Amino acid sequence: MVEISPGDEGTRCGFIALIGAPNVGKSTLVNALVGTKVTIVSPKVQTTRALIRGIAIEQRSQLIFIDTPGIFAPKRRLDRAMVKTAWSGAHDADIAALLIDAKRGIDEEAEAILARLGDVAGPRILILNKVDLVAKPNLLTLAQTANERLPFAATFMISALTGSGIPDLKSWLAANVAVGPWHYPEDQITDAPLRSLAAEITREKLFRRLHQELPYRSTVETDVWKELRGDAVRIEQTIYVERESQRKIVLGKGGQTIKAIGADARRELMEIVGKTVHLFLFVKVREGWGDDPERYREMGLDFPKE
Ligand code: GDP
Ligand code: MG
Repeated sequence: MVEISPGDEGTRCGFIALIGAPNVGKSTLVNALVGTKVTIVSPKVQTTRALIRGIAIEQRSQLIFIDTPGIFAPKRRLDRAMVKTAWSGAHDADIAALLIDAKRGIDEEAEAILARLGDVAGPRILILNKVDLVAKPNLLTLAQTANERLPFAATFMISALTGSGIPDLKSWLAANVAVGPWHYPEDQITDAPLRSLAAEITREKLFRRLHQELPYRSTVETDVWKELRGDAVRIEQTIYVERESQRKIVLGKGGQTIKAIGADARRELMEIVGKTVHLFLFVKVREGWGDDPERYREMGLDFPKE
């Protein structure tokens, strides 16, 4: 490893894949690392198939975070595509960071990920998140148990929510990505195609409210993104489900559920675009789309043969 001293012209750059079960806090961590302004670059210039969720600059290092789809036991075709993409993200990355919810500990999902993570080349780090919910001695035991299972180059104990431990994590990453030019010019980072990010945000809110009731294959597309006068934007999105019964669930009684999802999504969108957001959500049934290769391409996923 080459030390860069202040005044040195050297830069560093690297892809960091955040791997973990759904709800361990991957998205929250990206937001904490990147800051309030979530940055995203066009999928066309991506070198990995996973979604780039944010880019942070720390000293002279450019840290590109890939928020992989949650890894879980795949049953259906789309689930398998998500898992495949998540793992290919891990393989393409320079550093693989495994996130574990410290409160949940090494549950079945974390166990399954640990078992496969050994095959990923390159440095691995362990991030115990949500330490605000757990007593210190339990954290140390958890860190030890995980490291016995699979040795990690470093272990961090953080709270993505409170920000505790984030600066340490960020400086470690900045010091450990490879020496080399930045992958994205600084001005390109903010030049964001926000449509796909907006769809992802709504999808996240949808699943946060309904993850028990909805199959993972429900999806969101941004149909309209229109800049309005007076620093406002009109966004129209369609939530696609597979059955009428699911459409009813998304709408909720008297439209309560869709309203709540829309309010959550709108709040985050306003933060990101820094403008007034008028968000319109539609729910449509699209039967059998889980078997349509085109949909997979739109989502940046490979279409598995079976
Ligand atoms: P993801 O599915 O891995 O992207 O997880 P999210 O970032 O969406 O987080 C899932 C839930 O955990 C959300 O309700 C977060 O607010 C919560 N969360 C994330 N990080 C922390 C943390 O450090 N402490 C606590 N208490 N909650 C957290
Ligand atoms: Mg997430």
